[in-house]
Amino acid sequence: AAKAAGRGRVRVFSPDLRVAAETRMQLAAELRDAIAGEQLVLHYQPIVHLSTGACTGVEALVRWQHPARGLLPPSDFVPLAAQHDLMAQLTCWVLRTATGQAAAWDAAGLSLVMNVNISAEHFSAGTLTDDVAAALEASGLPPERLVVELTETSVAEDPTSAAAQLARLRVTGVEVSIDDFGSGFSSISQLVALPAGLLKIDRSLVTCAAGRAGQAAAAIEAVVGLADAFGMRSLAEGVETAEQLAVATALGCTFAQGFHIARPMPAEDIPAWMAARTRGAAPLPLLTDAAS
Ligand code: C2E
Ligand code: MG
Ligand code: MG
Ligand code: MG
Repeated sequence: AAKAAGRGRVRVFSPDLRVAAETRMQLAAELRDAIAGEQLVLHYQPIVHLSTGACTGVEALVRWQHPARGLLPPSDFVPLAAQHDLMAQLTCWVLRTATGQAAAWDAAGLSLVMNVNISAEHFSAGTLTDDVAAALEASGLPPERLVVELTETSVAEDPTSAAAQLARLRVTGVEVSIDDFGSGFSSISQLVALPAGLLKIDRSLVTCAAGRAGQAAAAIEAVVGLADAFGMRSLAEGVETAEQLAVATALGCTFAQGFHIARPMPAEDIPAWMAARTRGAAPLPLLTDAAS
C-alpha cells in the first residue's frame, strides 16, 4: 500500500511505522541533498521551570520536510544519517539553525535557553567543541544560553574521550544535559564521570509515576535525589497529564517538558505561545499558581 501511493504524492509517515528497507535506501540517497538544500526544519518544544511556572527554554527537534513524503520525524532519518556518515553535517546544521533562532528571538526581546541533541557519531569525530564554538560565534548567542543534550548510549563507545570533550565545552559556559535518563541501563558510575549539570528523566519513568503510586514515584524521587546529590538540576520529560505535572512538581523536579505543556512547534509559533502563556491564556494550572 505504501508503494502504491507513488511518487509525488504527499504521504505522512506515522512515527511508529518502521520505514521499509527500500524506502530507507532511497531516503539515505536523498538525505545529503536535504541537509544542504534546506529541507530540514527545527520544531521547538517549550521547557518550563516548575517552581515559577515560567517557560525558560526550548528543545530543538529536527524534522525533514520531504517534498514527496511530507514531514518526517527524526526516527525516520536520524539513524540513516548515522549509518551514512552524515551525522556531523546534520548536527552542524541543527547547531547553526538553533543558535541562530535563539539569537533572533533574543533580538526580539524573547530570551530562551536553547537545548540541542548531540549524537554518538559527533563524539567519536572529536569535533564537538569546535562545532559548538563556531555556531555560537556565527549566531552571537552567549554560551550560557546553549545546552547540549546527550544520552548515556551516545557516550558509551568512548566515555573518557566524551567526558573530556564535554568538560572542555562546559569551561566555555555551555551546559551539558543527560537525556533519557532511566531508559535502558543507566549507570550511576557513568553519571558521576560525565560533567553534566542537568538530568532529563525519561518519559517511561514519568509516565508510570502517576499511574502506579508508590514504586514508580519512588523511582523518580530517587533520580531527583541523585541529581541533587551531584549538584545537578532535573527535568521530567514526556509530561502528558496534569497529574504527571503535579507529581513532577511535588517530587522536586526543576523543569518539565511534555505534550501537556506544549507540543513541539515551528519557530514562528513560539512567540504567540509565550505571549499567551504570559497572559495566563495557556492551559497550564501552574501559571495561576505562580501568579498568586
Ligand atoms: P528526545 O531528545 O528525548 O526528544 C524528546 C522526544 O519526545 C521528541 O520526539 C518529542 O516530540 C517527544 N515528546 C515530547 N513530549 C512528549 C510527550 O508528552 N509525550 C510523548 N509521547 N512524546 C513527547 P521527536 O521529536 O520525535 O524526537 C525523537 C528523538 O529523536 C529525540 O528524543 C532525539 O533523541 C532525536 N532527535 C530529535 N532531534 C534531533 C537532532 O536535532 N539531532 C539528533 N542527533 N537527534 C535528534
Ligand atoms: Mg533531547
Ligand atoms: Mg529525551
Ligand atoms: Mg527520548
